[in-house]
Amino acid sequence: MKDIGIDLGTANVVIYVKGSGIVLNEPSVVAIDSDTKKVLAVGNEANEMLGRTPGKIKAIRPMKDGVIADFDVTGAMLNHFIKKAIGKRIMKPRILICCPSNITQVEKTAIMEAAISTGARKVFLEEEPKVAAVGAGLDISKPSGNMVIDIGGGTTDIAVLSLGGIVTSESIRIAGNTFDSDIIKYMKDKHKIIVGERSAEEIKKEIGSVYRKDKNEKMEVKGRDAVTGLPRTVTINQEEIEGALKEDALKIVRATKTVLEKTPPELSADIMDKGIILTGGGSLLEGFPQLLKEELEVPVFVADSPLTCVAEGTGVLLEHLELLEN
Ligand code: ADP
Ligand code: MG
Repeated sequence: MKDIGIDLGTANVVIYVKGSGIVLNEPSVVAIDSDTKKVLAVGNEANEMLGRTPGKIKAIRPMKDGVIADFDVTGAMLNHFIKKAIGKRIMKPRILICCPSNITQVEKTAIMEAAISTGARKVFLEEEPKVAAVGAGLDISKPSGNMVIDIGGGTTDIAVLSLGGIVTSESIRIAGNTFDSDIIKYMKDKHKIIVGERSAEEIKKEIGSVYRKDKNEKMEVKGRDAVTGLPRTVTINQEEIEGALKEDALKIVRATKTVLEKTPPELSADIMDKGIILTGGGSLLEGFPQLLKEELEVPVFVADSPLTCVAEGTGVLLEHLELLEN
């Protein structure tokens, strides 16, 4: 029987099937008809529609800020992805879901119910920082401190783990999406040009940086003139974008400092030795490890596959599901 693990992220859903590995990796986006509330498309297909939908079709991210903005839509999305991942099966799988760490009990129950309704035999929920750490290859079962910073789309989760549990942690709503918004705002204020969410994300991935570099790359950006309303192209450089992103990047640094200050000294000493591990797609933003290293004076490493490491972590935990059973 194939148990499955799900990383229910604010930006992406990644599904791991025991014995097969990662079988699905799609954006957490749903397109709905705003009149009838009918779901029209989910995942990749819905993502193509973001910002490009006519009148009554709305493409939404139901988990945008790391909280469930819309229960029904989240349930429909989860249902769609699980069916797509496992197809038609006679045996009911057990499902391990990893969800944002700051969700409420009501939201947890809603996620469990949505998973059960897809025919799951049993559903387990796990906290994201723990699973991210396991997926990054850390052994969190020992009495030794490990620090993980997961920079996702809607939230950044910072946690210190030891003996299999979270010792200190913090979850802030400054993450990948925030950087996209920073770019949108900068382009409007400075260049008087309106760019969409997707273009902003492209700029971030291409030339975004939060730490001084020698070269200053350039990029052409298309958007809509804020005054005339007509299409226009501008050339921007890396230094400008760094300026736009720096303040929010430093908020993540400060939140990390706060967690370190609350960490028992023995565990801090372990973290000084072993360093901090970065996971989540936001950790791919250029210069993040360098910025943290400089500000905190602690070694910093990025996980091998930051975007899939939580799903990989569920894969490891699926091998020991009995331990979670109680
Ligand atoms: P979540 O777990 O919340 O679904 P992910 O870990 O999937 O989030 O990360 C998604 C975020 O990572 C998005 O904001 C995306 O723009 C960002 N991201 C992905 N690749 C890169 C990159 N190369 N550079 C900067 N940011 C990136
Ligand atoms: Mg995540």
